[in-house]
Amino acid sequence: MLKQHAGEAKVFAGGAHVTILMKQGLYQPKALVNIKKIPELKNISFDTSEGLIIGALVTHREIETSSLVKEKFPVLSEAEREIANIRVRNMGTVGGNLASGEPLTDLSQIFIALDGKLRIAGPDGQRAIRVEELFLDFYTTSLAEDEIITQVVLPPPAPRSGIDYIRFSSSSVVDKPSAGVAVRLTLDKEAVQAARIVLGCVGPTPVRAKKTEALVAGKILNDELIGQAGALASQECSPIGDLRGSEEYKRAIVRALVKRALIEAHRKALLL
Ligand SMILES: Cc1cc2nc3c(=O)[nH]c(=O)nc-3n(C[C@H](O)[C@H](O)[C@H](O)COP(=O)(O)OP(=O)(O)OC[C@H]3O[C@@H](n4cnc5c(N)ncnc54)[C@H](O)[C@@H]3O)c2cc1C
Repeated sequence: MLKQHAGEAKVFAGGAHVTILMKQGLYQPKALVNIKKIPELKNISFDTSEGLIIGALVTHREIETSSLVKEKFPVLSEAEREIANIRVRNMGTVGGNLASGEPLTDLSQIFIALDGKLRIAGPDGQRAIRVEELFLDFYTTSLAEDEIITQVVLPPPAPRSGIDYIRFSSSSVVDKPSAGVAVRLTLDKEAVQAARIVLGCVGPTPVRAKKTEALVAGKILNDELIGQAGALASQECSPIGDLRGSEEYKRAIVRALVKRALIEAHRKALLL
């Protein structure tokens, strides 16, 4: 149906995003293709080789309350508790959250830090991409108009890996974050073997702070290195000033969040 109505149709999942844009007159699709009744897209499962598999129609609330998610990736259920409000969490799906390409979101940072993959289906078959390959620009993704996301796949983390996500909202009224930082550290004895540092809401797309990842890799974390990492990461994003804070304010938030998330991810890695 998406192919048949190419350029004129939009996928409709939970409708939390698409309905607002239609009411505001920003979207006026001629057709909505409702995918909500495809049962294969509603499952959460775990496979020892592939990892956690989340269907695109799984809602925020289902991720938040799933005992499987809590057991395998507690960072996700903890993050979900702070996303939007209960109404949006009940309606909004993981596929819609990612496919909207909206920059002020939380899940993409965590998925990228976990080296997550997306399964995508369209008239020409199926393909898979890394989550970070989805985001091209503000509200722009690499999905073709006739493709849908079917699953998010999160591989089991390497031994001695710790992951932390921290989001900061500048006001209790504004429910989208000013910044959100995900950090995954894998340790080799005392030193950091590999680091993933992902900055969200501070640019058109989530971004990996690759220079900061390289700075900490191979080293033993200490206060000085953590301070340097926070400062460097705050320069690896491109926030804009808006009602959630000025550019300088957001860079300062990123600096603080990266430091805290590094400490917490390190603490968790030491426990494993
Ligand atoms: C008030 C409010 C607060 C919010 N706060 C947060 C927050 O704090 N953190 C956060 O992360 N997010 C937040 N969000 C975003 C929210 O998570 C998303 O709007 C929601 O998850 C979208 O999912 P949906 O199923 O409702 O998508 P829909 O509205 O149905 O669709 C959204 C877009 O994705 C496309 N689409 C949907 N599913 C697929 C699919 N499987 N494949 C391809 N394209 C698809 C649609 O065509 C549309 O363009 C907030 C939203 C609102 C309205």
